[in-house]
Amino acid sequence: MPGTTYFVQECPTCGRRLEVRVEYLGKKIACRHCGARFEAFDASSGECLPSNSSLALLARAKTLIDTAAGSKS
Ligand SMILES: [Zn+2]
Repeated sequence: MPGTTYFVQECPTCGRRLEVRVEYLGKKIACRHCGARFEAFDASSGECLPSNSSLALLARAKTLIDTAAGSKS
């Protein structure tokens, strides 16, 4: 099948680079080298990283609080 797309992700356990099919994005995959299971994400897009999104959410909440506090006189 033409057009099969892979992205490269480092295994968080053994640090080896894995070619992961894009259809496995956001799903649990197993490292073929060490067998560790982890969630596939494309690090270059940074969109599927749960820690990233919660950090962004925290930052946005803090900005809102600061804005609300600063606007009061
Ligand atoms: Zn591994």
